[in-house]
Amino acid sequence: MKPAILATAMLAVALPAQADTEIVVTRVGSQPSTVGPSENFTGAVRVDSRFKGTGLARISGGTVTFEPGARTAWHTHPLGQTLIVTAGVGRVQHWEGPVQEIRPGDTVWIPPGVKHWHGAAADIGMSHIAFSEALDGKTVDWMEQVTDEQYGR
Ligand code: MN
Repeated sequence: MKPAILATAMLAVALPAQADTEIVVTRVGSQPSTVGPSENFTGAVRVDSRFKGTGLARISGGTVTFEPGARTAWHTHPLGQTLIVTAGVGRVQHWEGPVQEIRPGDTVWIPPGVKHWHGAAADIGMSHIAFSEALDGKTVDWMEQVTDEQYGR
């Protein structure tokens, strides 16, 4: 076999039959911003640069921007979630723990099934990139809103 043919044959073995093989660059501005729905968020929340893996990949996410005081409702992720703070000052809280301040460059791992919320500080907004993996097509289970008392006003 010629080297080029051999390489093609090896690639075919290494990848599932229906695998996507194209690298996809989704340009900023090509997807309109979406709004975090009021049943799952308090305050103004915007989602940009959404992404989703293809084929067997379970990863998806986006950049989430919270205005001052805005936050998610309480929720869990079946396979956990990673947050990378990119701007501002934020807050994250485990159901059984204190509110923690998070800042740009911080990474946050929320283990599978852990009840939590995340959002902005009271007087400054916050953006983070959120990554999670889907289990049976689902990345989040939403619960009740975070009260002002829980938020720490
Ligand atoms: Mn979360």
